[in-house]
Order: sequence, then structure tokens, then C-alpha cells
Amino acid sequence: MTTITLRNLRKEFDDVVAVNGVDLTVRDGEFLVVVGPSGCGKSTTLRLLAGLETATDGEIRMDDRDVTGTEPKDRNVAMVFQNYALYPHMTGRRNITFGMNATDSFTDEEIDRRVAEAAETLDITDLLDRKPQAMSGGERQRVALGRAIVRDPDAFLMDEPLSNLDAKLRIQMRAELTRLHAELGTTTVYVTHDQTEAMTLGERVVVMDDGEIQQVDPPQALYDFPENRFVAEFIGDPAMNMIDVAVEGGVAVHDAFRIPLPTGEAGDGKNVENGTAAESLADPEAGDRRKAVLGVRPEDLHPARDRPDLGETTFDATVEVTEPLGDSLLVHCSVGDATFKMGAEPRSSLEPGGTVSVTYDPERLHLFEPETGEAFY
Ligand code: ATP
Repeated sequence: MTTITLRNLRKEFDDVVAVNGVDLTVRDGEFLVVVGPSGCGKSTTLRLLAGLETATDGEIRMDDRDVTGTEPKDRNVAMVFQNYALYPHMTGRRNITFGMNATDSFTDEEIDRRVAEAAETLDITDLLDRKPQAMSGGERQRVALGRAIVRDPDAFLMDEPLSNLDAKLRIQMRAELTRLHAELGTTTVYVTHDQTEAMTLGERVVVMDDGEIQQVDPPQALYDFPENRFVAEFIGDPAMNMIDVAVEGGVAVHDAFRIPLPTGEAGDGKNVENGTAAESLADPEAGDRRKAVLGVRPEDLHPARDRPDLGETTFDATVEVTEPLGDSLLVHCSVGDATFKMGAEPRSSLEPGGTVSVTYDPERLHLFEPETGEAFY
């Protein structure tokens, strides 16, 4: 069992800062997912952990060992890659055991025992005597996982291991990875650009952008309480609506609507750490009126006639386009100069050009600073 600690980790490639001062603790036995857009530095962070890149600055510890400068083979971690990295001319078994007696000095009996165990766990016994070209993508990735688990490493490091699989197989392998983790309990760091993968696999999720950590939280907390605009827009599909407003006397004001904001105590569902939401809304420097970006997820907006329980507070918008998604209808709307998306019942009779009265769950509204993007409500 292993805790991994990164302290002020930094990696520069010439004039590119790929990882810019990352502080992170991966807990013992945790499945931690690192997610972010292309180029955000997630693969470099993982490669630094594996020892495949050398840190420009900072520290990597595994339990109480400082491994910042140690060779990959001395870290006892197992990496699983997107492209499987199997040797084409070797059987599944050889791919799994390659190098084991040389570097780890296992006896032949021990190797056979471990391969049999791993093959059973991953249901790949039939593949052991086949070469990769006679395996499907999913089977190849299972063999690659087999190679990782026979070594009984202190940590698994996985770099987009499912992204070469088709959508259906990806969902199946996701469930399999969760099962495998529950069975083995090995500390795992998993990198992906796919937010659904991050949300379904991660016990905690790290969102990265531009070489820096934006937020670390369990998936639902990340979704419900994004700490900044980047996280709010990156997590969730379709993305959170963002509308420029002014906040005045506890009301979000737009040319075309006014939304009273709940001003309850901190902790009752708002993004407010201390004091009351009302206190958080008042900006000492901006006085009574301050600019803000109002964030609301499409599924937290509703045609008023579908949700009478949400009360009287509604505003009228124009239906622009409707997109049937099967289990819901995504309605693109406009109000004044603002546009937004709203979730509706799948067979709602909303026609483009028509007017819809919109209601919302007031507890699920977010406000962000226009300049910094920080959430303040
Ligand atoms: P992707 O999902 O596209 O792989 P990523 O989030 O994993 O992206 P990294 O691969 O870590 O991002 O890259 C972070 C930044 O560092 C990018 O700007 C990339 O171009 C740069 N970079 C990565 N590796 C190197 C390298 N070997 N030499 C120069 N620049 C590099």
C-alpha cells in the first residue's frame, strides 16, 4: 500500500511549462483520476511519477521514500498506456512476463503462479498463447493490464488506457477497472481527457488546466461545487450555461430577467465557505452592485409548467432550437442578448420561435468573478 506525494512539482520543456507547481497527495489505495484538456500537463505529471521524465523542480515521494531522482525500474510502479505497448512477436504470456526474471528475479514457479492468478482475474487465460494480432483491442488492453498486475506494483499509473477502444467496450472496461481496483486495492493514478471516464472511475478527480491543478474533489462535489469557471465548464455535458449579470441586493440582474438568490447559511448547498450567502454576495470593494457571471446547468433549468414545485419565480425566453436526446429534450433558448440551454421532458411540445416560461432550482445557481473566474456563490 502506498501514498504518493507531489510537492511543488514542475516540468519545463525548453520554453514550455508543462507542469507548473503541482501539490498533490494520492492516498493509500485510492483511485485518483487526473482530467483536463489536451496539453494541460496531465501526461507529463504521470510520466514524472513513473520516472519517464525528470522533474525540473519539486519532489515526488512514495510513502517516506523520496523517488524524485530514481530510475523507473526502482520505483515499483506499473504503467498502462493507451496503445497497449505489447510486443507483436510475443504471445500474451511472454508479453506479460517479459523481463520478470531478469529485473525482478522471480523464480519460474512464482512467475507461473502470478500469471495464472492475473489471467484468472482478468479472464484472459485463453489469450496467453495468442499473439497480439490475434486479439481484439479490448483483449490487448487486458493483456497490458495483466502485465501491470503480475508485478504486484506499489501503484498503477494509467495513461488514457481505454481511448483506443470503441464506445461500448470502453464502458465495459470501465466497470472492469473499477472491479479490479476493488479487488486489488492498489493506489492508482489514471489520466484521461474524458470527463465521463473521470467521473465514473475516480474516487477523487483532479482537474488540470495549463499545467496547474484547478480542483481536487470527489466527482459529485466537483459537479455540484465547482471552485472556478474552468471546472464548471469542463465538467458536465452539455456544459454549464454562463450569463453575464450584475448582482444587486441579493438579486442577479440581467436586462431581460431578475433572479433572486437564496441567502441562507453556508453549507446548505451553496458555494460559500464562511458566513451566509448574503455576505458572500456583497463585495466590499464593488459596493452594492457588482458584475458577475451566473452559471446554471441546463438540467437545473426547466419549462415552468413541468415544475410547479419550484415556485413562482420564472422568466420568459424564446425557443431557438430543440434537440431530442432520447431521455430528454435539450432546448436552446435566448433571452435579451443571452443564450442558454435548458433540459426538458423528452416529448415536450416546444417549437422554435415560441415563448417558454423558464424556472430553476435556486439552490443550484453559481456565481463567478468575471475577471478571475473564481466561484463566490
Ligand atoms: P494530451 O491529452 O494531448 O496528451 P496532456 O494534458 O497529457 O495532453 P502533456 O502531454 O503533459 O499534456 O503536455 C503538456 C505540455 O507540454 C504541452 O504543451 C506539450 O506540447 C508539452 N510537451 C509535452 N512533452 C513534451 C516534450 N517531450 N517536449 C516538448 N514539449 C512537450
